[in-house]
Amino acid sequence: MSNSRLQGKVALITGAASGIGEEAARLFAENGAFVVVADIQDDLGQKVVASIGLDKASYQHCDVKNENQVEEVVNFTLQKYGTLDILFSNAGVMGPLTSILDLDLAQLDNTIAINIRGVTATIKHAGRAMVARKIRGSIICTASVAACLGGVGPTAYTASKHAVVGLVRSTSTELGAHGIRVNCISPFGVATPLPCSAYNMEASQLEANSCAMANLKGVVLKPKHIAEAALFFASDESAFISGHNLVVDGGFTVSSHTYNPDDVSGM
Ligand code: NAD
Repeated sequence: MSNSRLQGKVALITGAASGIGEEAARLFAENGAFVVVADIQDDLGQKVVASIGLDKASYQHCDVKNENQVEEVVNFTLQKYGTLDILFSNAGVMGPLTSILDLDLAQLDNTIAINIRGVTATIKHAGRAMVARKIRGSIICTASVAACLGGVGPTAYTASKHAVVGLVRSTSTELGAHGIRVNCISPFGVATPLPCSAYNMEASQLEANSCAMANLKGVVLKPKHIAEAALFFASDESAFISGHNLVVDGGFTVSSHTYNPDDVSGM
């Protein structure tokens, strides 16, 4: 497949200093896009940009909890590159691994403020920029397998990621009238700082757990696999796909694993 699937396009990626967002920034740039790396980890973000190349990428501080900063990063993108074709609204946090019985509602507020209010702000301001300039853009959000099932993460995180799917369906309905597509990706456990630090696990352990739980065997889920799903949504190859939640989980969420044809004794 060609490696210039985003030739000349301009992409803004939140949470791009690390993990999935960083991988997407590299892949989008390799495919010919100019990329704005937005994050709150300034040193890491600057390093990502330096390694991609200053001719292809720029760093901008943006805390998605702050609507003004979201509007500023959209304006920065427009001023620097003249347009905004792709938003990958990917920044997110897991929050503490507490039970609903012990949940501090201030922690729920923080998770919601980043994972759903922050994503909403990015769609609002990128959407305004695209509509005003008649750009038939692509907006991609990062949800999670915790947007499809309960029991795969803490309650505040699960609720926030379910809300991302609703946000995508609603905004794809509105923005579709302007030719703008809105989709999301739901990854299974990928070894990035987010789950490794939340579960206090080495990357190798997290990868082994995902491999054991996925139906699909023989593949280790990496940030690159999620970045490739984002590239598909960013490119014209998904030109008629909108409002979709693309689950990248090796089949984990489609099976309850209760039927085993090799052992029916437990049925
Ligand atoms: P990560 O920790 O490597 O990256 C997340 C990035 O988001 C970090 O660079 C962080 O600084 C940034 N960020 C956090 N709060 C922010 C804020 N308020 N404003 C701007 N940036 C902020 O983790 P990741 O796994 O790459 O996470 C990316 C997305 O993927 C998240 O939305 C996460 O919920 C989702 N996700 C991850 C997994 C997984 O297993 N890694 C699974 C499902 C969904």
